[in-house]
Amino acid sequence: MVFITKKSYVIAIAIIIVIVAASIAVGGGYIYTHRAQATAKISEYTVVIDAGHGGIDGGVVGSQGVKESDINLKMAGVLQKQLESMGYGVVMTRTSKDALNNIKRLDMQARKDIIVKASPVAVISLHVNKFSNSSRRGAQVFYDDTGIGKDFAENMQKSINQNINAKYSGRDDYEAIGGDLFITKCVKVPSIIIECGFISNPQDEKLLLSQSYCQDLCRVIADVLTESLTV
Ligand SMILES: [Zn+2]
Repeated sequence: MVFITKKSYVIAIAIIIVIVAASIAVGGGYIYTHRAQATAKISEYTVVIDAGHGGIDGGVVGSQGVKESDINLKMAGVLQKQLESMGYGVVMTRTSKDALNNIKRLDMQARKDIIVKASPVAVISLHVNKFSNSSRRGAQVFYDDTGIGKDFAENMQKSINQNINAKYSGRDDYEAIGGDLFITKCVKVPSIIIECGFISNPQDEKLLLSQSYCQDLCRVIADVLTESLTV
């Protein structure tokens, strides 16, 4: 049994009041912080766009000799314009046809250095696919299966299925694929690779070279990015 004097009873009540008041203050601060995050301006967000390959590494090649590295660069430019028009800060890993280094390992390291320095909220790496079966079509999304990009990748794939693949290639059943992918592991923010279509399919190849397809796809990418940052 604990003996409580009148004086210590008053002190105990006072302590309880202080604790309750402090809890409310901390709670209020917590709510305030979350509100502040929810209303952060798009202009405060930096996104890295990585145009895959470049220089002597052309990536996959289409039936007409078009190189993946050139399609990636064009797509990256369209996405850059789209995001900048929405107010994003955009950092590109490359803006010319050249690689960052002629040695692949050093090229990838240079991309990582740019990504780390940019301290982005998301990384989007653009590529083009090739498959032995030339009937395979559509855009697919990949993420690091040990990282935090899974939700972003799944939302991206879902929207691409609905708004791009269903419209252009008649299929809407792709699922985002996890893997051990260097460019998606550079920083601890949602990082994805988008294979924008299959160069091994003649219709996809045409789409990849068309401005309207690039713009449609990039609009979807930008919208999903914005949703994921503002929800
Ligand atoms: Zn590639």
